[in-house]
Amino acid sequence: MRHAGMSKKHLNIYDSAACGRLSEYLQTIGSALDQYLRFEHPDAITSAAQWKPNLSRVLPEKGIGIDQLLAEMASDLIPNGSQIAYGGSTAYITTGATTAGVLATLAGSVAAPQRYTLTAFNYLEELSLDWMADLFSLPSAMKGLYSSGGSVANLVGLGAARQWAYEQVGIDPSADGILRPGVIFATEASHHTIHRSAAVLGLGRNAVVTVKSDISGKMIAESLADCLASCQAEGRLPVAVVANAGVTSTGAIDPLRQVGELAKQYDTWFHVDGAYGLPGILDESIRHLYDGLELADSVIVDPHKWLGAPVGIGATFVKDRALLSRAFSQGESDYLEGSITDEKAEHSMDHFGIPYFDLGVELSAPARGAVVWALIREIGAEGLRQRIRRHNGMARWLADKVKQHPNLELLLEPTLSICCFRYHADDIKDLNEFNRQVYRAVVRKGLCIPSTAMVDGQFAIRPCFIGARTTQQHAEELLADVLEFGHQFHCSNNL
Ligand SMILES: *Cc1c(COP(=O)(O)O)cnc(C)c1O
Repeated sequence: MRHAGMSKKHLNIYDSAACGRLSEYLQTIGSALDQYLRFEHPDAITSAAQWKPNLSRVLPEKGIGIDQLLAEMASDLIPNGSQIAYGGSTAYITTGATTAGVLATLAGSVAAPQRYTLTAFNYLEELSLDWMADLFSLPSAMKGLYSSGGSVANLVGLGAARQWAYEQVGIDPSADGILRPGVIFATEASHHTIHRSAAVLGLGRNAVVTVKSDISGKMIAESLADCLASCQAEGRLPVAVVANAGVTSTGAIDPLRQVGELAKQYDTWFHVDGAYGLPGILDESIRHLYDGLELADSVIVDPHKWLGAPVGIGATFVKDRALLSRAFSQGESDYLEGSITDEKAEHSMDHFGIPYFDLGVELSAPARGAVVWALIREIGAEGLRQRIRRHNGMARWLADKVKQHPNLELLLEPTLSICCFRYHADDIKDLNEFNRQVYRAVVRKGLCIPSTAMVDGQFAIRPCFIGARTTQQHAEELLADVLEFGHQFHCSNNL
């Protein structure tokens, strides 16, 4: 009765697009993806000559049909994807998704084409955000919002900061714009999405005042105190102090308590960017570095980083979610509200569920909560804790090996799962150029794919151990490769 309008076989005679038979097609795609995950494929760049001609076609007038399409995906597309999911890939802060998140993403894209209306998916949005707040020991008043990643999560957090700061001086910035300039305080090591957020929020990139940091990128609290004092003396409006819980290039964690207390002293919003590093709090041995996190007014984390969710999931937590609503509400629209009766929900269409679309910058959005729910439900807090400890331990293990070796130099003690080091010998004239060559050779060999960073003007080889497929063996391989090419170039007098 319920599905009376649908054809039994899910065959669609009215539209040429396939609209069902997923289990059958998933077999094909599933095996192509499993094969991709064995990482036997060459780097996509080197094989471009093979796949590009097959993909570069003019707009087709006639479709090829689902079967032929899947065959093309399996032969030309999937095998030529990125190496990021590979365990030996420790570049940037990107990871391959684990299976639970992949499947939950698929489930959401089929069964929850929107995250609103009263559905199990809308429910899991809130539940999984609360789970994360609990997992990362955020204050119980903090409520969250999903978005596409750290960039938008920072924008949303700073949007709340802007709303709060201007309301303090009697201005509603979301209605009237910023009627006077404001200031955001951040270090040079802060992610540049902070500057972009300042631009998008109308404050302007130049509203970001640079607070001094040490060579690891850790904020120097005295410098923040000076900056806040001059801002006050000049009568400028402080909008937010941004601290990092895990600097992108080094993993450094700002002195959160000192920074948070200074922000409070100057009546300024305290934003913590933990896109990469917030899950580090699960490692008991460094938990103390997060002391003061409870002072934060907003915190962000990227589940698509250390938690292993498929890319496209960031989260912002704020102490007062009503601010988000005042900052981002799109206002009422007939085509939306008209269908909703609200008082007594008897049907999923009677109620929006929690109106996330009024708390951030997206209306249509995937059901990301089910993904985070799935990956936590699968391995629990304990499984995540083990991953974080394993990766932090690998960075420390590598740092110890580097310190013990006469031809290696540790450029920074690891804080989290990033280790910055280089090959070294006294007779090498240009260590930066030498290590750039070592780095290239390591990546070309293909076993290990770290990225690089500059530490106080020194070129560092920079693995960030973060993928669920990344194990101790990969740290050992990287150490061996750097030594192999370092020795080789050194011996061949390639100085
Ligand atoms: C990765 C990162 C971002 C940006 O996140 P995206 O998910 O790539 O948009 C912001 N801040 C920090 C500290 C990061 O490491």
